[in-house]
Amino acid sequence: MSRRFLSIGECMVELSQAGDGLLRKGFAGDTFNTAWYARACLAADWSVDYFTALGDDAMSDEMLAFIDKAGIGTSLIRRIRGRSPGLYMINLKNGERSFSYWRDSAAARSLAADPDRLREAVESADVVYFSGITLAILPHEDAETLLAEVRRAKAAGKLVVFDPNIRPRLWSSYDVMHTTISEGARSSVIVMPSFDDEAAHFGDDSIEATIHRYRALGAIHIVVKNGSDGVTLNFAGEQTFVPAEKVEKVIDTTSAGDSFNGAFLARYLEASDAPAAARFATKVAARVVSEHGALVPREKLGLDGG
Ligand code: ADP
Repeated sequence: MSRRFLSIGECMVELSQAGDGLLRKGFAGDTFNTAWYARACLAADWSVDYFTALGDDAMSDEMLAFIDKAGIGTSLIRRIRGRSPGLYMINLKNGERSFSYWRDSAAARSLAADPDRLREAVESADVVYFSGITLAILPHEDAETLLAEVRRAKAAGKLVVFDPNIRPRLWSSYDVMHTTISEGARSSVIVMPSFDDEAAHFGDDSIEATIHRYRALGAIHIVVKNGSDGVTLNFAGEQTFVPAEKVEKVIDTTSAGDSFNGAFLARYLEASDAPAAARFATKVAARVVSEHGALVPREKLGLDGG
């Protein structure tokens, strides 16, 4: 029987500079990017589904078609009349990238507003993936609904995976951010933080401190990503360090962490060998940072020995 990887969150319309004042349209978002790389790396007996909410406009139709074309299931996606997807623009000034967002009224903010539908989706999955961004965009009550659902999934023995992906500007206060992200970790089996975010926003002075904090909350396995300085795994207390791959020329680090998570989980689900999964994921992430854009096509990931 086919098994299901379910990723929950927001995919946005992405506008990037295409020269001569022109803009190029794409689609991306942390949990969607991870679903993309999980799909690229998982065997065909796994289905990968995305859970979000979209509107009923042309842009929502286009995004849905894009997700579907990527081989990612769309049947659980909620459509809401009169709403639209969120949008962000990548600005380039003197080689420096900055981002502008229009996402306050995005349909995805209502992804947990239909609790029955959310429950049905989570119950249908073997693996449930969500992030701090997923929690941050939801109204407080809906974030509680989502957390209750993933706690239920964890108790039922499903693999619940959480990337804190800390983005302070999405949260109403540091207090709410700390409490809700901690609750996300507590409700999960695997937590996959990025050390620089944890140091900046939780004040961790070492990778050990990050691991200790999340394990003390009740997460069972921790994977701490640290850019070109490698990855530290703590699986049920056993610690392993995996160095990053050497990259000749870093082109674009967008979705390095998201691609690492998708590739890591794909391999881990196949063989339950976390260090081997991390070695594989550092190779995929190295390819991703060597290319432009968040979503690097499967052919460029070197999966078939290429
Ligand atoms: P995030 O994008 O979430 O901040 P990281 O920057 O830690 O995550 O990157 C995730 C993974 O991507 C790292 O664990 C590493 O394997 C790979 N990676 C990121 N930046 C580089 C780099 N400059 N060189 C090689 N690998 C990298």
